[in-house]
Amino acid sequence: MARKVICKLESCKKKDSSDNMILHIHEVESGRTYNKYYCKGCYQNFIEQQEFLKKEQKEMDQLIEIIKVVHEIDNVPGQFYPFLQDLRNGSSIVMGKKNRRYKEGFAFKVISETYRKYQDDIRYWKNRKNFEGSTLKELRYCLAIVIDKIQMVKKQINQLEQQEAREKTKEIVPEFVEREITYKRNQKDNGILEFLD
Ligand SMILES: [Zn+2]
Repeated sequence: MARKVICKLESCKKKDSSDNMILHIHEVESGRTYNKYYCKGCYQNFIEQQEFLKKEQKEMDQLIEIIKVVHEIDNVPGQFYPFLQDLRNGSSIVMGKKNRRYKEGFAFKVISETYRKYQDDIRYWKNRKNFEGSTLKELRYCLAIVIDKIQMVKKQINQLEQQEAREKTKEIVPEFVEREITYKRNQKDNGILEFLD
């Protein structure tokens, strides 16, 4: 039976008959399920949002794995996560006040690549400095190295991606040029034949 339900998309929250809405069954880790409704237009947004968050989670997991390898630790302390999130979001402290942003900073894969590329520098400083046995202090100190180099790594990644895109277009061009040459040659051959006749 149709009843009034609210669209669960944060930016919508419209109330409408359940007949006009799409039902999505959410399952949480414990196995419990929740019925959530979305307007038809909002449902696509919701799915895209879910996919984006899933991708972000995967890239974040990969980053944590790289940090564990570079720092030679079994676990990354929970207190370090907000620093990584700030770098991802582009949040910064301006005049002692936090300037909150969302996903406007460096992609997790760019942060990962910076850790990977500068792992020797990080290891060098990690072994040289005394962090009084605090993994958090060590991670925060070495994050400054990452922050120092990340803009450059981002530029390099962008250049590489542009180059790859250019090479993809190049692959199409030679075929076209080759055909044109063959065509011109045939014309010339015909010309010679005509002359001989
Ligand atoms: Zn909606």
